[in-house]
Amino acid sequence: MSDTILEIDSLSAGYGDFIAVDKVSMTVEKGQIVSLIGLNGAGKTTLINTVAGLQKPDGGTVRFKGEDITSLSADKIVAKGLSLVPQGGRCFNRMSVQDNLLMGGFTKSARKKLKETLGHVYELFPDLADMKKRPAGALSGGQRQMVAIGRALMARPDCLIFDEISLGLSPAVIKDIYRRIIKINEEEKTSVILIEQDTRRALNASDSFYVMLKGRVVLSGKSSGIDSETLKKAYFGI
Ligand code: ATP
Repeated sequence: MSDTILEIDSLSAGYGDFIAVDKVSMTVEKGQIVSLIGLNGAGKTTLINTVAGLQKPDGGTVRFKGEDITSLSADKIVAKGLSLVPQGGRCFNRMSVQDNLLMGGFTKSARKKLKETLGHVYELFPDLADMKKRPAGALSGGQRQMVAIGRALMARPDCLIFDEISLGLSPAVIKDIYRRIIKINEEEKTSVILIEQDTRRALNASDSFYVMLKGRVVLSGKSSGIDSETLKKAYFGI
């Protein structure tokens, strides 16, 4: 049996006539952490939004756990076990921390284990347990990011995609969040895609990497031992 959990094949997407993602192929193995790096505007967010069903592809396929999910709606994709933590730790600010988390457990299989999963999320983020009744809007940026991660975890995903989790956060908070992502990966065997602009941080945390530039994958491989000069050239397109 194949160990591939996510297989993106020649996926294209854009905005009107503009091609933001141009025939991108990528594979994620079960339990692996893959980083997706690249400059601003390289197409990373468009790619993963298309994978997660938030944007319609212009071509190509996405297979998840062996099943073609290319034309499924975003909520159906979450129900299949693929969750996205969007950029900026987006939360429902007027809702309590706990209600934000519960919103993530809407899928049929997640609903059956709601209490257990909630307990698990609070174990992973004890700060959130202390603040569960507070409105999410009253939390710091780092705490809201944790709520966003917790909400994605409530769906009990097999694969989690983090879109620039470190944006706007202090180095100490980023380190803390990365530590917890690695814990989720190790303990739950959840596959992870990390979108990052900080190449060093991304490579340190991942098993393999893809570099995107102007909508295309220009370099990929194992994260350990990659030559920094080769990486720099691919990243900047020089
Ligand atoms: P960032 O790190 O800034 O999020 P990115 O690598 O995720 O960058 P995308 O956000 O996917 O890149 O953007 C890819 C290209 O698509 C960019 O040229 C961007 O200007 C363009 N783009 C993104 N969103 C839209 C939109 N809603 N309408 C039109 N063009 C868009």
